[in-house]
Amino acid sequence: MRVLVLGGTGEGRALATRLAREPGLEVTTSLAGRVADPRRPPGDVRSGGFGGVDGLAAYLTHRRVEAVVDATHPFASRMTGNAVAACGRLGVPLLVLRRPGWVAAEGDDWWRVPDAVSAASAVTRLAPEGTTVLLTLGRGGVAAFAGDDARHYVIRSVDPPDGALPPRRTLLAARGPFTPDAERAVFREHAVAVLVTKDSGGDATAAKLITARDAGLAVVMIDRPPLPEGARVTRSVAGAVAWVLGRSTGPSASDSPERDIARP
Ligand code: NAP
Repeated sequence: MRVLVLGGTGEGRALATRLAREPGLEVTTSLAGRVADPRRPPGDVRSGGFGGVDGLAAYLTHRRVEAVVDATHPFASRMTGNAVAACGRLGVPLLVLRRPGWVAAEGDDWWRVPDAVSAASAVTRLAPEGTTVLLTLGRGGVAAFAGDDARHYVIRSVDPPDGALPPRRTLLAARGPFTPDAERAVFREHAVAVLVTKDSGGDATAAKLITARDAGLAVVMIDRPPLPEGARVTRSVAGAVAWVLGRSTGPSASDSPERDIARP
């Protein structure tokens, strides 16, 4: 069975690694090709956009793909939307693998906002002028803060951020996972007053939230974009493995309900 994993996440790599051990599966992982030096999963890897819904549909048809797992990042909503549309059009089974979002614990001072523009507005209320704000938004979203010359921004991302940047800034090139000790050192060195992040979920980048909690700092948390209506979703790599293996042994097994697979 030919399986396409839409990757770019640790879960995508873990899934490809696990499926590579299964006889009878031909697994290809697709990466967007944005990161200069991506962590490559085992097995066949392709790189670069497909060219929208039509391009993805043409790829799935040409490669005779029989199942797709969308293991892209929770904020990669365009790719997920395209996958739902292309697979829906062709009748190719699709599972979306989404790690759970973060949940605030006692002592957290989180301010949930829908997007980067709202986050920039929240920062003007939460971070006094002259203080430092740590942005961990990846490449995108930083432009929303470009108009603020009253605060200093420490901007951390794997590759340099896109678009306009705030005038007072420090760029930190770094790739997780980050340890609590390393995060404490970053917060201390830059005298971080407020953290702005996206609700990516997962363990690899959660240490900054614990650091902020321990230091009593406010966190502006950008909510995830909603999943497309009707998408079949699992929260775990194990759930995705079970779904793929179920499909490879016959459609009736694959369509049986999984404990952690749900259609919203
Ligand atoms: P996006 O906005 O949803 O996607 C924009 C376009 O990039 C898509 O329409 C598609 O181009 C292409 N694309 C995205 N993921 C792809 C994939 N796995 N394989 C082939 N093409 C892909 O996505 P994004 O937020 O820019 O994220 C890009 C990649 O980085 C994703 O693979 C994601 O898993 C990873 N990532 C994203 C974040 C984040 O915060 N957004 C964080 C960590 C990792 P076409 O329309 O031409 O097909």
